[in-house]
Parts: sequence; structure tokens; C-alpha cells
Amino acid sequence: MVLAELGRGIAGALARMKEAIVVDERALADCLNEISRALLQADVRFETVRDIRASIKRAVNLDALADGTDKRRVIQKAVFGEICRMLDPGKPSFTPSKGKPSVVMFVGLQGSGKTTTCTKYADYHRRRGFKPALVCADTFRAGAFDQLKQNATKAKIPFYGSYTESDPVKIAVEGVDKFRKEKCDLIIVDTSGRHKQEAALLEEMRQVSEATKPDLVIFVMDGSIGQAAFDQAQAFKQSASVGAVIITKMDGHAKGGGALSAVSATKSPVIFIGTGEHIPDFVAFDAKPFVKRLLGMGDMDGLVDIIQNAMPIDNPPEIGGTFTLRLLYEMFQNLQNMGSLGQLVSMIPGFSSQFIEKGKEREGQAKIKRYMTIMDSMTAAELDGTNPKLMNQSRINRIARGSGRLVSEVVCMLEEHKRIAKMWKKLPIHKKLNTNSAKSL
Ligand code: GDP
Repeated sequence: MVLAELGRGIAGALARMKEAIVVDERALADCLNEISRALLQADVRFETVRDIRASIKRAVNLDALADGTDKRRVIQKAVFGEICRMLDPGKPSFTPSKGKPSVVMFVGLQGSGKTTTCTKYADYHRRRGFKPALVCADTFRAGAFDQLKQNATKAKIPFYGSYTESDPVKIAVEGVDKFRKEKCDLIIVDTSGRHKQEAALLEEMRQVSEATKPDLVIFVMDGSIGQAAFDQAQAFKQSASVGAVIITKMDGHAKGGGALSAVSATKSPVIFIGTGEHIPDFVAFDAKPFVKRLLGMGDMDGLVDIIQNAMPIDNPPEIGGTFTLRLLYEMFQNLQNMGSLGQLVSMIPGFSSQFIEKGKEREGQAKIKRYMTIMDSMTAAELDGTNPKLMNQSRINRIARGSGRLVSEVVCMLEEHKRIAKMWKKLPIHKKLNTNSAKSL
């Protein structure tokens, strides 16, 4: 889970304050101490932590609150608002649109995860109706083309590159021309990296940029460098007219909070974060839903994003508007194959608050597996059913017997499904989501 420790720290502080018998200055100070500690442990700059603390204190003036005001809610709202503010870098200068050709150039230091991220970015957009293509203009690192080719083939994305040509500008121009002719609407150019910000790297970036005229330059940065991200983001922003940033390796790195807050402080829009080595480990970044997820408040948009990253998209039948049990099953199955169940657990409201505590993540995954066992005992009509009344007591009893689970567990799973289905209906995205449900079961 992204920045799990930081989320646990802050959510824990808020939960403890909720349990306090009286919410006075003392309880508020304890809560703020805990939150500050969690932020510092996540490598957020001391000055930023001090400002957040002061802003929350200002927003929560306990003496001035009218009698009967829910002080706990006021504090929670202030904490949420301040953490959002810390992580809100603003919007990118350009967002690709379907059917309109655009060129996006990726820049960054070697090893930052640039090549992997190019494919993640392409795959993310392909799943949302774009026609992306990849161009490997990295002629500096031996094996760069092979790596891009391998990733692109896996994700079924057209690619262009050369084993023999050493001029990155020439390759970039040829690739962009080729894919423009093929009516690709998102042409992604991967450029060379270096070990540090050398003049040669910046000059090559400038030349490729001049020749291909990208609509957006994305800077890819390794999140494990923590606060040092501030200087790096600032330097690249100035020298390569960077319009957006993607921070990688946000999985399991204690310094993720530092990187994210530092980049946001440069007002460089962070548009995605990388959360693992695999192609679907890629999350669109938007401060509010991100913080909701971080604090275990659930995030339905993030959930839909993860589902879209996980759905099979070749020859999918339309699913219409109903979130059937089969769709839920399939979603669990795909995420399990991708090893991303933990991420999913953190997205589902209700699930997340239960499993946010340390060590509970595994329990959450076990629960999902239990749900899948229960669904294995359902008939096709039950899995595909759109009428909630179909699930009567005798069916529930039969499913419980068949799966060797308790009746209460079956009921609990059906309720969870109902809740997700209800929220799902409200999201406009469900119309676009297709699933090959019949084939993969
Ligand atoms: P490049 O030199 O910048 O093109 O970097 P690569 O794309 O070759 O990535 C360098 C290493 O980082 C590879 O081992 C990737 O699998 C790994 N990597 C990339 N993104 C992520 C991420 O979000 N999380 C983790 N854990 N590893 C990543």
C-alpha cells in the first residue's frame, strides 16, 4: 500500500483522539504530536510539518467553538484539509485527449523507472480508449530498446526503435512521423537518462524536444530519494520545460511522503505515482482522493482506476450498468493474479478502515479470498443476476453449505457487494468499462 506507514500513523492519531473522553487542548496536542511524528518519519521536511501543525491549530480553535460542535469532526476535517494542501501540486499544463494526436516526451535520470513508466502510461491510456505508441530514443543505455520492446510487446503497444542508429533525434523524429501516419493519438517518446544532471543529458533532451515538439514533457523521478526530490524536480522543471511529474517506487519506501510533498512544493503537477514493478502498478494522482485513501477513508475513484487497470480488454462484451457478482469476482481474480489485492483492499471504504492497522492487510486479503470461495459455490444465474431479491434465504443457506462458510459470511459478502454496486452505479465510468466475464471464469 502506498505510504502505508504514514497513513497508519495519521489515521491512528485521529482514531485515538476519537476515543478520548474529552477533546481539550491536551488531546489536540497529543494528536498533533503523533501526526507530526508520522510526517517526519515519512521524510516530510521539518518546516512543512511545522507549518501543517500551526495551520491545523489555527483552524481548530477549541475555545471559539460553539457548544455542541463536534470537535472531533472539526479536527479531522482540518487534518484532512492540511494534508491535501501539502500534497496538492496543481494541474498539468496539458492532458491528452482521445482521437487528437499528441506527443509526450519522458525525461529523467537513469534508473528512475523511466522506461517502465512509459509502458505503464501507455497501457493506462490504452485501457481508456487511447491508441498509444512507444518510441525508444534512448541510445545511451545498452539494452534500453530491448527493454522497451519487451514491455511494449507484453502490453500489446506498438513500438519503434533501432539497434544500429545512434542519433536519438533521428529515431525520435522517425518514430513520431511513423505513428502520426498510423493515426496514433498518444505518441510516447522515451529519452536517454544519465546518472546525474549532466550538460550532455540536458542538451540531448533539448534537441529531441526541438525536433519532436512534444505537447507535454513528463519528468520521471525515483520516490525513494525523499526530500532531495525538491532540488531535482526544480532543476528539471527549469531546464526541460517539464509540464508534469511521475514519482516512481512509492511502494514500500519510507521516504515517499518526503518526495511527494517536496515535488508538490515546487508546484510541479504530479500526475501519477508508480507503486510497483508491474504494468498495472500505476495510480493517477489527485491530492484529495489520494489522502482519503491514505487515511483509510476509502476512495471509489481510485478503486475504479484499479479495476480498469485490471480488466481484460481484448474482445470484451459490454457490461451495461450493473456491477454483478461475477464482475466483483473477476476483479478479485485479476487483482490476485497481479498481486495487487493489498492495493485494492486499501481502496474500498469500510474495508480500508478495518485493515489500515498494521498486520491487518493480510487479513483483508484472506477475507477477499474467502469471498471468492463463497462465489465459487454460486450458480451462473446468481453471479450474473441483476435482481437483488434473487438471493433468498434458501439460496444463501445452500451457498454457505457448498462453500463451507458461515451463513453470516455469505450475508456479509452480499452486503459488501451491494454497497460497491450502489456506488458503482453513480460513477460515469462504468459505461466505458468492459469485461470479458464469460471467458475468464
Ligand atoms: P530507467 O533507467 O529510468 O529507464 O529505469 P527502468 O524503467 O529500467 O527501471 C529501473 C528499475 O526500477 C527496474 O528494476 C524497474 O522494475 C524498477 N521500477 C520502476 N518503477 C517502479 C516502481 O514504481 N516500483 C518499484 N518497486 N520498482 C520500479
